[in-house]
Amino acid sequence: MDEKIERPCPKCGSREVSRSRRHGVGERLLKFLMIVPFRCEVCNVRFFQWAL
Ligand SMILES: [Zn+2]
Repeated sequence: MDEKIERPCPKCGSREVSRSRRHGVGERLLKFLMIVPFRCEVCNVRFFQWAL
Protein backbone atom coordinates (compact mmCIF):
# COMPACT_ATOMS: atom_id res chain seq x y z
CA MET A 1 0.00 0.00 0.00
CA ASP A 2 2.72 2.40 0.96
CA GLU A 3 5.14 2.23 -1.93
CA LYS A 4 7.36 5.05 -0.86
CA ILE A 5 9.95 4.20 1.75
CA GLU A 6 9.66 6.80 4.44
CA ARG A 7 12.55 7.69 6.64
CA PRO A 8 11.17 9.79 9.43
CA CYS A 9 13.50 11.28 11.94
CA PRO A 10 13.91 8.85 14.87
CA LYS A 11 14.09 11.74 17.29
CA CYS A 12 11.25 14.11 16.34
CA GLY A 13 9.39 12.02 13.76
CA SER A 14 9.69 14.67 11.05
CA ARG A 15 9.87 13.56 7.43
CA GLU A 16 11.91 16.60 6.51
CA VAL A 17 15.07 14.56 6.21
CA SER A 18 17.78 14.75 3.62
CA ARG A 19 20.67 12.53 2.80
CA SER A 20 23.72 13.72 4.61
CA ARG A 21 27.25 13.81 3.32
CA ARG A 22 29.57 11.20 4.66
CA HIS A 23 32.21 12.09 7.18
CA GLY A 24 35.31 10.04 7.67
CA VAL A 25 36.43 6.58 6.77
CA GLY A 26 34.03 4.90 9.16
CA GLU A 27 31.11 5.97 7.00
CA ARG A 28 32.78 4.57 3.90
CA LEU A 29 32.44 1.25 5.64
CA LEU A 30 28.80 2.02 6.23
CA LYS A 31 28.39 2.67 2.53
CA PHE A 32 29.78 -0.77 1.88
CA LEU A 33 27.09 -2.10 4.19
CA MET A 34 24.42 -0.14 2.26
CA ILE A 35 23.83 2.15 5.20
CA VAL A 36 23.63 5.85 4.44
CA PRO A 37 23.54 8.84 6.76
CA PHE A 38 20.54 11.14 6.87
CA ARG A 39 20.02 14.44 8.59
CA CYS A 40 16.79 15.83 9.99
CA GLU A 41 16.03 19.34 8.73
CA VAL A 42 14.00 20.09 11.85
CA CYS A 43 16.11 19.02 14.81
CA ASN A 44 19.35 18.56 12.86
CA VAL A 45 20.00 15.09 14.22
CA ARG A 46 22.01 12.71 12.07
CA PHE A 47 20.99 9.10 11.79
CA PHE A 48 21.64 6.08 9.64
CA GLN A 49 19.28 4.02 7.57
CA TRP A 50 19.56 1.21 5.12
CA ALA A 51 19.83 2.58 1.58
CA LEU A 52 17.35 0.00 0.30
ZN1 LIG B 1 14.23 15.46 13.81
